Amino acid sequence: MSSILNSKPNLNGIGMTSQRTRERLLGRLIDQGIQSMQVLDIIRSTPRHIFLDEALSHRAYEDVALPIGYNQTISQPYIVARMTEALLKSGSLEKVLEIGTGCGYQTAVMAQLAKSVYTVERIKPLLDRAKRNLKLLKLRNIDYKHDDGSAGWQQHGPFDAIITTAAPQQIPQELLLQLAEGGRLLIPVGGDDSQELQLISRHGDEFSTEVLEAVRFVPLLVGQLQH
Ligand code: SAH
Repeated sequence: MSSILNSKPNLNGIGMTSQRTRERLLGRLIDQGIQSMQVLDIIRSTPRHIFLDEALSHRAYEDVALPIGYNQTISQPYIVARMTEALLKSGSLEKVLEIGTGCGYQTAVMAQLAKSVYTVERIKPLLDRAKRNLKLLKLRNIDYKHDDGSAGWQQHGPFDAIITTAAPQQIPQELLLQLAEGGRLLIPVGGDDSQELQLISRHGDEFSTEVLEAVRFVPLLVGQLQH
């Protein structure tokens, strides 16, 4: 008999986390302009409910950000799809750096497209939770670091893409410096009330910026936390 302590979440989902509920979410993403079949297929097959506390898992396939504790959120599926699609369309995705692992949902989506993903989170218990979730999904091409991600992860750079899922007021220069030739940094920039999602591409020592849309992310904070 399995006890509640070692029982694993149901990856397929039932009721409000069933395949049918997930299809409705897919319809919404398509209505909002997501076109990449690759991205849509990954969102369809990635069980977002395992990234949430049980009390919230029935809302996993609503297209909204939801709390994950520590004043943080799991990103809205539309935003995850939009950011992933923007990076997929704009160049190589072999080596990707993610700043702001959270519970690991965006990491899971990215790890199914990239050869390797390096992810940095400043809140230790969240990083540990992400590791558990991603192991459950058997995603092994991910390296984790508990740190302030504003400094990137120089040891493993340069990166084809850097995705930042928390918003700084100003772009950390270190992240730009760790981009490979043709590499892109996708980053929300701004304060609590107004942020824009910027896609910055590197061509030699030149950087070009495209503004994608208005967004709302938690702030990129300084330093790391143990608890
Ligand atoms: N990628 C997540 C979104 C998590 S919310 C998802 O798919 O749902 C953003 C995360 O960024 C939070 O967990 C927050 O702790 C983290 N964060 C904020 N500032 C950071 C920093 N300087 N370095 C690393 N992580 C940071």
